[in-house]
Amino acid sequence: MQSNDFAFKEIMDIAPNPIFIYADQKIIYVNHEAVKLINAVKKEDLLGKPFIGFIHPDSIQSVTQSMKELIENKKPIVKLYQKIITLTNEIIEVEVSASITNINNQQAIIGIANDLTSIKKLNKLLIEKDEKLTSIIQQIPHLLFFITKKGIIKEFYNAHKIQLYTEPEKFLNKNISEVLPYDVSAKIHEKIETLCITNKTQKIEYELTIENQTQHYQAYLIPYKENEILVSILEMRVDEYLFKTLFTESFSIKLIIDPTTGNILNANKAACNFYGYTHDEITHLNINQINTMTDEEIKIAIQEAKTGQRNFFRFKHRLKNGEIKHVEVYSSKLILNNQEVLYSIVHDKTDVVLSEQKFKNLFDNLIEAYALNEIITDKNGKPVDYRFIEINEAFLSLTHTNSKEEIIGKTVKELWPETEQYWIEIYGKVALENQRLSFENYWKVLDRWYLVNAYSPQKGQFAVSFIDITKLKKTQEQLLLFEKAIQNVPVSIVITDVYGTIQYVNPYFSQITGYSVQEAIGQNPKILQSGKHHQDFYKQLWETILSGETWVGELYNKKKDGTFYWESARISPILNKESNEITNFVVVKLDVTKQKQMQEDLLRAKEKAEQSEKLKANFLANMSHEIRTPLNSIIGFTEILKHTPTTEEERQKYLHVISQSSDRLFNLINDILEVSKINAGEIKIENNTIEVEKEFSLLYENFLLEAQVKDLKLLLNPTYPERLLIETDKSKFLSIVTNLVKNAIKYTHKGFVEFGYVYQNEHIEIIVNDTGIGIPKEKHDIIFNRFMQVDNRADKPYEGVGLGLSIVKAYVEMLHGTIELSSEKDKGTTFKVKLPAKQQSTIENQTQEEQAVIATQHHPCEQILIVEDDKASASLLDYHLSKYCKKTIVADSVLEALEIFKTKKFKIVFTDIKLPDMNGFELIKKIKTVNPSVIVVAQSGFAMEDDIKAALSEGFDFYLTKPISEKAIHQIMSEILKIKN
Ligand code: ADP
Repeated sequence: MQSNDFAFKEIMDIAPNPIFIYADQKIIYVNHEAVKLINAVKKEDLLGKPFIGFIHPDSIQSVTQSMKELIENKKPIVKLYQKIITLTNEIIEVEVSASITNINNQQAIIGIANDLTSIKKLNKLLIEKDEKLTSIIQQIPHLLFFITKKGIIKEFYNAHKIQLYTEPEKFLNKNISEVLPYDVSAKIHEKIETLCITNKTQKIEYELTIENQTQHYQAYLIPYKENEILVSILEMRVDEYLFKTLFTESFSIKLIIDPTTGNILNANKAACNFYGYTHDEITHLNINQINTMTDEEIKIAIQEAKTGQRNFFRFKHRLKNGEIKHVEVYSSKLILNNQEVLYSIVHDKTDVVLSEQKFKNLFDNLIEAYALNEIITDKNGKPVDYRFIEINEAFLSLTHTNSKEEIIGKTVKELWPETEQYWIEIYGKVALENQRLSFENYWKVLDRWYLVNAYSPQKGQFAVSFIDITKLKKTQEQLLLFEKAIQNVPVSIVITDVYGTIQYVNPYFSQITGYSVQEAIGQNPKILQSGKHHQDFYKQLWETILSGETWVGELYNKKKDGTFYWESARISPILNKESNEITNFVVVKLDVTKQKQMQEDLLRAKEKAEQSEKLKANFLANMSHEIRTPLNSIIGFTEILKHTPTTEEERQKYLHVISQSSDRLFNLINDILEVSKINAGEIKIENNTIEVEKEFSLLYENFLLEAQVKDLKLLLNPTYPERLLIETDKSKFLSIVTNLVKNAIKYTHKGFVEFGYVYQNEHIEIIVNDTGIGIPKEKHDIIFNRFMQVDNRADKPYEGVGLGLSIVKAYVEMLHGTIELSSEKDKGTTFKVKLPAKQQSTIENQTQEEQAVIATQHHPCEQILIVEDDKASASLLDYHLSKYCKKTIVADSVLEALEIFKTKKFKIVFTDIKLPDMNGFELIKKIKTVNPSVIVVAQSGFAMEDDIKAALSEGFDFYLTKPISEKAIHQIMSEILKIKN
């Protein structure tokens, strides 16, 4: 080669194309690129070799032809396409430009090759790439826009025919702010700005309302060319949107599993955190790498979840770090992007399981219902619903639901659509703001009250524990009502335990018994026992209530202050519903003392009325008998004496009968008058000195005859040896003894009557003892009552109307004494009367009789006027008064008396009150005006205190009641004459 040939050779060696020189049937030169093309190691591998040996059979003909044309100088240069077989038997396509040259005077062909294979490959690649891209773009459900950095919309691709906000002609070449709503365009502009600064893809989410439907979009702003941005917009389907919020952004651990392979298709952030894998790692795992069960078991579980046979599982899951966690999984089938997947919510139960092991299923056995929930928010973060993640058994019973599967995984709105929004809001606060709440909640859906405790175990979740307090609430309400009622009812209410210990009393109980509530509680109702009921009564009461029955009856009880009262009571046992055992007794009592009192009063009044009625009848019969009998004798014998000639002996006998009958009649009338005086409270106590021994001797003498007539021994038994003087009311004292001795003689037919006295300790005891018919024990009390007799028949064999002992008793009481009776039927009777009586040493006053005698001796009166229309009474007075006066004049009317009074001088006038012309009051007025010093004595059948008082106030100086006794006249005359002294 010449020097310029050398330079040429240098150029060919470094040329980018393969170059061959071919001469004399052999290759005489190749450059590096040619060595490369033929896959030779060095130039020598090719040099000297026939060129044609490298030509592919397909190209031999065309190559030979072209070479021939060159050599024959037909064409200076040929371009031909040929296939070459390399040393490694590869077929490569090349395009060769060949021309004739002269090297060392020898014709040679120089060929410069162009490797077509890589270009073709590239081309093919490009085509494939284009196809791929196109199909990808076709597949991506995106709407593509090209916009300028100023926001002008340049181009758009809408392969999936996504509904556009407006027609293309309205937005092409327009600024987005002219087309889209302000808030959306502003958001996009903002992102464009960030993109311009960072040159990084920006993500944006927004919503548009198209034909009344709100649609969610996700847009990526991708830097494309210097001034252009590719906007890729994805229309999110509502379920996708929800899926995103419920899945991706959920705080709960969630996995999406392919049910056919068990591959984990997706996992949310919470899941990645929990298992410790990145999203990429976890989405390349199969569930069997997490679940510790055998593949077979996993398969079955997946199958069950897929078919809906079972949605709730308890598994052990392995974390990346090998730790095993107890989990509860709620898994259900879901169609996602046309694919059937398992949507699983995983709850870390490790703590619960561990504590479960410790506390033997405490969680499920809690009486308290428990629910762990996840709050669901809208795009603004506002709580809109919540989902149940976990519940316990009590939750089911308290909410009247059947199984956990029914609840877990569901939202409250799905389960109970009427749930009020404000509860969701309240729980939202708990879950998102970590507020702890405790409140009473009325849930309209179930018409129940719950006591709820809510707290947030982790952000986005809230746990509620609650108990059903509906019953409690209702009971509380009812109790309040009851409490109010029983606090106010005018009825005693007592609640005791089964042993009778008081646990509750109402205020009325305290009011009635005097025991305060504090004093009563803890006590036994025995504190009220009056001691008036027999033990058997209480025994029967306890037997009734302990047998579960209600006891109804009346109790006579004692208050704190000792007063007794009647209660009508109802005592009921309270039984425990389950065990049927008595737990308490309730006592409801009504104070019936007043009613009882009224009842008793009525009964007494009735008895009294009946008795009075009987008494009245008896009394009338008795009276009639007692009056008629002596009257009969008096009238009968008086008639005989008047009309029949009788011997002196007969006359004496008849007169004795008349006198006895008169005495009997007089005694009766006296007794009646005495009783009526006692009744009217008109009896006054006088103080007299009595010579007891003397009085008893006089009485003995008086009664001796009577006793002898009946053949009885009368014994006086004064046991006080000396002469005894005592101070007491003489007439009452004597009346007491007389009545008792009279009765003793009357009711004794055989034996003796003994009477006497004992003086001791300033008391005199009168004792009257007989051997008579006796008094049956049951009559001891009543015989002291008026008109009460042991034998009250009208035709009984004894005289008397039953007044004697009542007078005795009244006098004994007046004198502050006591009376004692010991007697039995047919065994005689003893009365003992004890009276306080001071002993006197001397008699201060002379006896009335002695005084009268003295008086008459010294001051005899001249004359007395007697005004009396009844002749018998007038002559009786006349007879008695003549003992004290020289003369008595009788007038039978007031007028006559006044006439006499005018002519004669009188110092003493005895007048009747009831007179034929005028009455005694008019008379006294008249005669007292004439002579004020005249002494006027009223003598009347009106024996009442009022009559006497009226007469004395009208000016009468004395009052004598008929029948007038010698004794009474004597007393008055002694007084008058003493005054005159
Ligand atoms: P009276 O004798 O007029 O019936 P009393 O009041 O004196 O009335 O006596 C009441 C009753 O008491 C009598 O009817 C009689 O039955 C009974 N009694 C009183 N004294 C005696 C006695 N010494 N012996 C038996 N019974 C007597």
